[in-house]
Amino acid sequence: MYKSIIIGTGPAGLTAAIYLARANLKPLVIEGPQPGGQLTTTTDVENFPGFPEGIMGPELMDNMRKQAERFGAEFRTGWVNSVDLSKRPFKLQVEGLGELVSDTLVLSTGATAKYLGIPGEQDNVGRGVSTCATCDGFFFRGKEIIVVGGGDSALEEAGFLTRFASKVTVVHRRDELRASKIMQDRVRANEKVEWALNRTPIEVVTSDTGVTGLKVRNNETGAEEVIEASGVFVAIGHHPNTGFLGGQIDTDDNGYIVVKPGTSLTNVPGVFACGDVQDSRYRQAITAAGSGCMAALDCEKYIENLEHEAAASAAK
Ligand SMILES: Cc1cc2nc3c(=O)[nH]c(=O)nc-3n(C[C@H](O)[C@H](O)[C@H](O)COP(=O)(O)OP(=O)(O)OC[C@H]3O[C@@H](n4cnc5c(N)ncnc54)[C@H](O)[C@@H]3O)c2cc1C
Repeated sequence: MYKSIIIGTGPAGLTAAIYLARANLKPLVIEGPQPGGQLTTTTDVENFPGFPEGIMGPELMDNMRKQAERFGAEFRTGWVNSVDLSKRPFKLQVEGLGELVSDTLVLSTGATAKYLGIPGEQDNVGRGVSTCATCDGFFFRGKEIIVVGGGDSALEEAGFLTRFASKVTVVHRRDELRASKIMQDRVRANEKVEWALNRTPIEVVTSDTGVTGLKVRNNETGAEEVIEASGVFVAIGHHPNTGFLGGQIDTDDNGYIVVKPGTSLTNVPGVFACGDVQDSRYRQAITAAGSGCMAALDCEKYIENLEHEAAASAAK
């Protein structure tokens, strides 16, 4: 029986762990399938405050974990299959750990970027293949970049990347873009953007020096073409990792957890959410960490109230 269980060890979960451990609440932290979260899949992180020379993603996450451990957070590895939030204490079914019981839960399971699933893609994530223009655009100053996708976020990323790139080619498998007209108009007016519509990506092309382009199939002619570029940004969406909640927590149309604005409170008292799993807009390590702090503070307050209520009813 735990006072608090944190699910997920990205920047959100680990920050919550640091705060809850320092509040002497001895949280259990479940690491899940990707200990350290998404940043373990990248190399340099240059926008997390406090590291003037940047820091490698895995090292940053290792530091956060050590910091939480130092204050008494307990870490265990397991995959949360399902939760029962119908009454407190909450029950979790965790593959590898069995049933766990806790008064409160912090949900920090992140969101997974969708990839194309083509050869050369996964091997080069963080080495020329990216799913985050804000994070990695700066590394491609003066270079040619490809953005794959046809929705609003793909075009937003394409527009943003023209600040750095000499040329941005938008690759989309259909003839028409899904993005809103206003977004299309804005990006079409940008001279640095070229279009490769009706093209299906089939391989990320590399050489000894890294990514050199994207092989695509022209859907009209069936011919294969290579579009040269040093970076391939895959912008075909994310899916928040909420399947294990079985619909017990309110989510928006895209599956992101809905929190009370300005807090980490979900629709179930005692369950808090932080990080990318409740944030389809910013999706940054620092915003995840900040919201992890909020979840821990909200959780602490909730536990304090529970303890007051228990003491008051015992005194009656
Ligand atoms: C390649 C790449 C590069 C990036 N670079 C930057 C950058 O330079 N700067 C920046 O600010 N941001 C960057 N980001 C974005 C940043 O990584 C995310 O915004 C951040 O990691 C979100 O943190 P999080 O704690 O919400 O979740 P995540 O980091 O996604 O962690 C989720 C955690 O939940 C666990 N989990 C999921 N499901 C379950 C389950 N059912 N049971 C148990 N555990 C579960 C996972 O194992 C993982 O530990 C990058 C992202 C990627 C993919």
